[in-house]
Amino acid sequence: RTFDTAGLHPVMLKNVELCGYKTPTPIQKYCIPAIKMGHDIIAIAQTGSGKTAAYLIPILNYLMGKAKKLAAHRPNPADVKVNAYTPVRAEPLVVIVCPARELAIQIFNEARKFCYRTMLRPCVVYGGGPMRDQINNLQRGCDVLIASPGRLIDMMERPDILTLRRVKYMVIDEADEMLHADWEEEFNKILSGGEQEEGNIKYMLFSATFPVAVRKLAKTHLAESHVRI
Ligand code: AMP
Repeated sequence: RTFDTAGLHPVMLKNVELCGYKTPTPIQKYCIPAIKMGHDIIAIAQTGSGKTAAYLIPILNYLMGKAKKLAAHRPNPADVKVNAYTPVRAEPLVVIVCPARELAIQIFNEARKFCYRTMLRPCVVYGGGPMRDQINNLQRGCDVLIASPGRLIDMMERPDILTLRRVKYMVIDEADEMLHADWEEEFNKILSGGEQEEGNIKYMLFSATFPVAVRKLAKTHLAESHVRI
């Protein structure tokens, strides 16, 4: 199978080609159709398996069909530049939570490639980075938010900056790396952060191992349909 047969948006197909990806990796073969069909996903996947593209391709592909409509919700970046303090709230449709700054930046770079020549705007926030710059960036519009958990919660506690009420897809990447700490309560806060209005969020959980904490999180938040690799 190639990416051509996956029923992707032409712009997405072109971006996949520009990345130099010719054939899907095994995890992409499973995840792309499953996510397109609207399933929640649990995937046991190592770094290097192509897991980032396995969720980014189908999720961003879905949003591409809606990109123009989404862009209408946010300010013209040029206007934001003129008045840097225009309080515009970020309302992402996709949130990707991952443990570390390096991984967040890596996912962001991959997301940027797939968002090329679409109206979709990815943003990244992580602990240790300058808060003010990250807020300014969010205020230019954000469709896809990649975040470390602590900084995400910081931002969620400022409802004029960020709301998760429009979120359609929530991805937890390297879940086992985050859940061994005392994060259970924080995670429940994040995972229910988008449920006030929509209730129909798709969850994707990626983890290198499958310890009790990850199972528990999956059991609480994910629908029955799982893909395990
Ligand atoms: P990841 O497991 O997401 O960290 O990806 C590992 C590396 O594989 C990254 O450098 C990707 O750019 C690359 N990659 C992902 N999918 C493919 C593919 N279908 N063909 C070739 N390289 C890929």
